[in-house]
Amino acid sequence: MAQPAHYSVQLRVDPGRKILHGVEEVEFRDAPKAPLVKGTNLRITAMPAGASADGDSVRLTARRARFEYEAAPGRGFRWLEDGSLATLFDCGAWMLCDPDPGYRATLRLEIVVPQSAGMRAAGPGRLTKQFRAGGWEHFVYEVRHPAQSFLFSFAVAKLEPWAAGNLEILSSREPHADVFARSAKAYRYFREKAGVDLPDPRYTQTFISMPGVGQEAAGMALMSQAYLEALESKDSVELMAHELAHQWWAVLVGIRSWSDFWLNEGITEFMTAAFVEHHQGRAAYEAKIATLQRELDKLRTEGKDRPLHWTQWRNAVEALGPVPYRKGALFLHRLRTGLGDDLFWRGIALYTRKHAGKLVDSQDFQQAMEAAAGRSLAALFDEGVYR
Ligand SMILES: [Zn+2]
Repeated sequence: MAQPAHYSVQLRVDPGRKILHGVEEVEFRDAPKAPLVKGTNLRITAMPAGASADGDSVRLTARRARFEYEAAPGRGFRWLEDGSLATLFDCGAWMLCDPDPGYRATLRLEIVVPQSAGMRAAGPGRLTKQFRAGGWEHFVYEVRHPAQSFLFSFAVAKLEPWAAGNLEILSSREPHADVFARSAKAYRYFREKAGVDLPDPRYTQTFISMPGVGQEAAGMALMSQAYLEALESKDSVELMAHELAHQWWAVLVGIRSWSDFWLNEGITEFMTAAFVEHHQGRAAYEAKIATLQRELDKLRTEGKDRPLHWTQWRNAVEALGPVPYRKGALFLHRLRTGLGDDLFWRGIALYTRKHAGKLVDSQDFQQAMEAAAGRSLAALFDEGVYR
């Protein structure tokens, strides 16, 4: 593996110009092979000798490089009406990075916010340092367990921290105690089904003013303030459960390429339905499965169906989309029905434990389920995953 081993990024928030001033140091283990990628909204102001920029990519020759840049809002980086900001999925919007999920790296992310803004940062990994200097508030987040760069998202907003056990909530107001209780229940459920603990059990749910947001990051998730209210008043646990499940199925067990995006989203959607069953009963599970089926049928009618393991994409955007969520979850439901609960859950735990901290593809999943089932599932996988 020759791609970035460690990124160190400092971002200074400039609310007046609505930009981020970035200073980044990137370290490779070996000579860099593929270029780093940056969004079109990111303008490099200082680059190391030997580096060459060509459109969205920057080619390097040395194993260490330092950049300075300015990032304006763009794809993957939103500045919201209330002055808060969020970055989602596309690391290239605010840093030079390798977005290929085939590589994991550690990150030190220092977010610097003017004290006068009264805002705080919510970053990936763990907050390891917070200090004030010269009218600026510094928040240092560290991702110490190597993660794929799409898991580096962060936000800056008017937030306060609330904690219970291993769970933290960052929100503009105190959440109801029920939110902690439901989150803790989901955490216990997923840990049991995964058969393995997270290397760092701490998990932060950050609620921001951005409508409809749901983004997993390493040790953290970004969701909307409006959703927090639905979680409190209507016991609407689905998004909370979906994002939390990603800590096992996306962060801990990662996909080697976007071709198997369904192993992130299909498993997570299925685990959400399973938690809904655990929390609200079998009828709620059946209703969720029926909804997924209706949504998939609609996609089929629109001609958007495709295999779960799908290699025809030209860019990450094409590889994502709604099919891996619905079809993937329904395939797991089918496996569960076919194998019975005992063997099915044994397979899920086997898969998760065996590949914790590693990168996988559809064959790894198939092999784990076959090991649990004690027989070949080739016909089922050929039809459900590869065709
Ligand atoms: Zn997801």
